[in-house]
Amino acid sequence: MSRPSRRRGRNVADSNEIVVVGGGAAGMMAALTAAELGADVRLLERNPKVGRKIYITGKGRCNLTNDCSPAQVLENVPRNPKFLMSAVTRFPPEQVKAYFRALGVPLKTERGNRVFPESDKAADIVDALFLALRRSRVAITEDRAVSLFTDETGAVTGVQGEHGRYPAGAVVLATGGASYPGTGSTGDGYAMAEAVGHTILPPKPSLVPLEAVGEDCKAMQGLSLRNVAIKVRDDRKKTVYAEQGELLFTHFGLSGPLILSASAHMRDFGKRQYHVLIDLKPALDEEKLDQRLLRDFGESPNRALHNVLEGLLPRLMIPVMVKRSGIPGDTPVNAVTRGQRRALLELLKGFRVDIAGPRPIAEAIVTSGGVKVSEVDPHTMASKKAPGLFLAGELLDVDAYTGGFNLQIAWSTGRAAGAGAAQFLQDGEGANGHGF
Ligand SMILES: Cc1cc2nc3c(=O)[nH]c(=O)nc-3n(C[C@H](O)[C@H](O)[C@H](O)COP(=O)(O)OP(=O)(O)OC[C@H]3O[C@@H](n4cnc5c(N)ncnc54)[C@H](O)[C@@H]3O)c2cc1C
Repeated sequence: MSRPSRRRGRNVADSNEIVVVGGGAAGMMAALTAAELGADVRLLERNPKVGRKIYITGKGRCNLTNDCSPAQVLENVPRNPKFLMSAVTRFPPEQVKAYFRALGVPLKTERGNRVFPESDKAADIVDALFLALRRSRVAITEDRAVSLFTDETGAVTGVQGEHGRYPAGAVVLATGGASYPGTGSTGDGYAMAEAVGHTILPPKPSLVPLEAVGEDCKAMQGLSLRNVAIKVRDDRKKTVYAEQGELLFTHFGLSGPLILSASAHMRDFGKRQYHVLIDLKPALDEEKLDQRLLRDFGESPNRALHNVLEGLLPRLMIPVMVKRSGIPGDTPVNAVTRGQRRALLELLKGFRVDIAGPRPIAEAIVTSGGVKVSEVDPHTMASKKAPGLFLAGELLDVDAYTGGFNLQIAWSTGRAAGAGAAQFLQDGEGANGHGF
């Protein structure tokens, strides 16, 4: 483990306070951990209230972690899982659950090991953290950090806010990514980290709706399909994702849980073209689906195709399907040829949507990219570029699939950063030589 060199030449006026920038999941956990270890902690949050993003997680229910082993957490992290091994092993889902239960939040586990508050209220998680911060005497200051200040050795010695200057013995930067900027996460931390020597991998959207080529999705906007199966293929015909679930057609393309999850596997938008193949009838193999078509056609041989399809498809899909099949919609089904029926069947088993790209980062559930992790100590989250700086949460170049893994990353890295910062001060006996 490499630790940056200790600060030198600091004067007694310097602060022993740990200043945590960002009152999100990672920042609150870092602040609480450092306070638990006896440090004086100040939490800088630009919003009047902490945890604004947490309120909207899990559709307002907060899927706070996934009830699984550390190894399984890492399997759900497509980017830099090894970096997270230490932090997640030391503060795994089991301990996250115990932590929140100890704060008085009863939890429950649902499908896919997703953990939620029993109340189904994300607000309970925020309230529990806020009360714990108060109990731990963490000073919460409403201000927006604009830069870090450093001493002549390059060590971080405080934070400059819009309304004040906050000298610090150590700083934890936990400003989140650039997704859902209305929650306060506008990507401020990237510039602050870059200014003290960090490399920023370009922030990109992940867990994000997808824009489609053409107008077909728009024609079906508002239509939600449950229990469909999708395959996402790239232009090398490689299947990068296959899963069953729910998707939504929108005015721009595709959204819904299945699509958000799929998007996290489409990691090369710049280089590759992707398309989604939707199996509209995953419960029926081709043979059974053909029998079903024959049966439906046989039951009313003189009815027009577009009417007969109503038994098989949602109404909004029919004009698009008929157009794509190339069969005039008013064709009586007894006049549909075997080849035409085959074309219809192929459409039902593989409705293709070509993807133009992801929606903007502001609409993404998480931001991929961020502070390069090789410049951060994985055990303590200490910056290898600027002594006295610690980094946590979505600001780092890590992101995960859905299921509670992104918050788990925030809790684990926040805990490591809080402990790292407290240890840093203790090792140096604090800036003024008294420790804390
Ligand atoms: C709609 C939605 C639903 C989600 N649902 C889930 C879910 O159910 N489960 C899951 O695991 N993950 C979920 N996520 C992802 C998860 O919320 C994030 O990965 C996680 O909150 C990241 O935590 P963080 O502390 O790193 O950043 P954030 O939660 O973004 O917190 C950063 C904080 O820093 C503050 N800040 C930013 N800049 C400054 C500044 N300059 N000065 C002071 N303060 C600043 C912000 O106001 C914010 O409070 C969801 C995300 C979204 C958008």
